[in-house]
Amino acid sequence: MATIDYTDARRARLEVEFHFAAAHRLPRYEGPCFRMHGHNYRLVVAVEGDVDPKTGMVADFGQLKGAVEEHVLARCDHRTLNDFLDNPTAENIARWIWEVLEKPLPGLAEVRLWEIPDSCVIYRGGRGR
Ligand SMILES: [Zn+2]
Repeated sequence: MATIDYTDARRARLEVEFHFAAAHRLPRYEGPCFRMHGHNYRLVVAVEGDVDPKTGMVADFGQLKGAVEEHVLARCDHRTLNDFLDNPTAENIARWIWEVLEKPLPGLAEVRLWEIPDSCVIYRGGRGR
C-alpha cells in the first residue's frame, strides 16, 4: 500500500489553549471593575506558517506551550495584573501578551483572551489589524 508523503509546503495555523487565574482592577472604569476582583482567564495563542515539508510541522507544540508558560503564565498566574500593567483591561492584557511572545514565538498570528466565558478580545498585533 502506498503512503502519502506531503513534500510541498502548505500554510497551517496552530492554536494552543491555556488557563490562568489573576486579580486586577480597572482604575479608569466607573463601575464594579474599579474594585479589585479576579478572573479565570482563558487564553488561546495562534501561530501560523508554512508546514516544513521535511518535518511536516509548522512549529513544535511543546515549544509553543513552553514559551507561553515561561513568558506569560509565570508572570500572570495567581498574580495581580496591576503590578505590571497600569490599566489591565482585557484589551491591554492581550496586547501585553502579544508583545512578550512576539520575539520567542516566530509566526505569532493571534492572541485571544477571555475574562468571562461569553466574551473575548482578539489581538493580532500592530495598529488597526
Ligand atoms: Zn475584571
